[in-house]
Amino acid sequence: MVKMIFLGAPGVGKGTHSNLVAEAHGIVKISTGDLLRENVKAGTELGLKAKEYMDAGGLVPDDLVIALLKDRISKDDCGKGFILDGFPRTIPQAEALSGITEIDLVVNLSAPEEVIIGRLSGRWTCKKCDAIYHELNIKPKVEGVCDKCGGELYQRDDQKPEVVKKRLETYQKDTAPLIDFYKSKGSFIEVNVEGNVEEVNKRVQEAINDKLNG
Ligand code: ADP
Ligand code: ZN
Repeated sequence: MVKMIFLGAPGVGKGTHSNLVAEAHGIVKISTGDLLRENVKAGTELGLKAKEYMDAGGLVPDDLVIALLKDRISKDDCGKGFILDGFPRTIPQAEALSGITEIDLVVNLSAPEEVIIGRLSGRWTCKKCDAIYHELNIKPKVEGVCDKCGGELYQRDDQKPEVVKKRLETYQKDTAPLIDFYKSKGSFIEVNVEGNVEEVNKRVQEAINDKLNG
């Protein structure tokens, strides 16, 4: 049983690395961003409320996200543990989480700001399957078309340059304080994410295993 949190600015690759680590440990990966987007797509009441904040590059109110997360981690598939990707994102969310369950390890993915900005600007998403591409380093074989399913690529509202800027500001203001919050609580590691996915993932997995076994 292991419960982890992945922290990091938008664009550090939290989604990619947390998926790979979850697979390696046979546990589920929970992304509040994905849960919220599912709700938006399904047109639920929660989705309707959340969409305006997400499209503007801001955060969805704490009470909504906390309720969503609490419900999700009560499901059976979380019995062996889980990785949280994108939650908590504020100090009140972290405090609420500590009242719900204990966390074994917090992994902070870090990179210089210019690296993050380069990665975030230029992202495109598939309309059908949500696969993500990048103009510079993850180009689709045919411009504007998804390699996996042939779907049309578009820029999500939150991938547009002005919204990217706002998301980074939101991260600095609301989420970066979580680094000190968790550092002071103990089980915390930081991993630099410069390099290709394979290389970085090896670094991430080794750092986690060292910490969990040491
Ligand atoms: P990113 O691409 O930055 O990793 P996510 O997919 O994790 O973004 O989340 C997309 C959007 O959903 C965020 O910009 C935010 O508006 C909302 N969101 C996700 N998780 C949370 C959270 N824990 N608290 C508040 N808002 C959240
Ligand atoms: Zn696709």
